[in-house]
Amino acid sequence: MLRLSRNGLVFYTFPAFQSFTCAIFTRLGGVSRPPFDSLNVGHTVGDDLSAVEENHRLIFEALGISKEQVVTARQVHGLGLALVDERHKGKVIPDTDGLLTATPGLFLMLRFADCVPLVLYDPVRNAVGLLHAGWKGSIMGIAFKAIEFMRETFGSRPEDVVAGIGPSIGPCCYEVGEDVAELARKFWPDPPILRTPQGRMHLDLWELNRQWLLKAGVKKVEVAGICTRCRNEEFFSHRASGGLTGRFAVIVGLNGRA
Ligand SMILES: [Zn+2]
Repeated sequence: MLRLSRNGLVFYTFPAFQSFTCAIFTRLGGVSRPPFDSLNVGHTVGDDLSAVEENHRLIFEALGISKEQVVTARQVHGLGLALVDERHKGKVIPDTDGLLTATPGLFLMLRFADCVPLVLYDPVRNAVGLLHAGWKGSIMGIAFKAIEFMRETFGSRPEDVVAGIGPSIGPCCYEVGEDVAELARKFWPDPPILRTPQGRMHLDLWELNRQWLLKAGVKKVEVAGICTRCRNEEFFSHRASGGLTGRFAVIVGLNGRA
């Protein structure tokens, strides 16, 4: 991963994603106070809303984009996807965990704290997608669904799509109970569940998403390999904080004028 810094804001990107905007912000460089320190973009986590607004402003400024060019979603840990275009500029799409667009100059933004950010890019059809994959979305295949969606909507060929699995809770830290393991086994004969020496179960969300992408026909999958819980000093982590924490921003978009 490339680690970049602009105006004191630190963000990561995939080396393969230089031809469009893909910025995975950290928690560094914002104005929120603990436990939301400092670049929190979550409106519903208990942070001071004026700080949250200022953090958004700082992020858009660092990327050289305006608030009106950004589309975001009210994430519900579901499998809902939305095609967005210039009509959705500056809007919040309800009940959606995946945004996709072929409109240059439009930027997709979602919020994370352990869930998996998935970035999809079709350089042939010039389309991008950003998904929020929690344990349900990772098990039930929001990644697969999004590739099907790109095929139907943009005429994408899965083998042209490049996918990135961003910083999120890793197999090192994602302990799950029998209920989650049971759902995983429903979808996968042999889900990537690691057993610790103490007999605990750790689910590998990165591998689940990678498997869904490969199943959909994607050939190139980049995995950041950054665990948000292990790297809690740079990323908000729901698990590391015991629940009270901020959300970091991921922004994806095709450069150019909308
Ligand atoms: Zn970890």
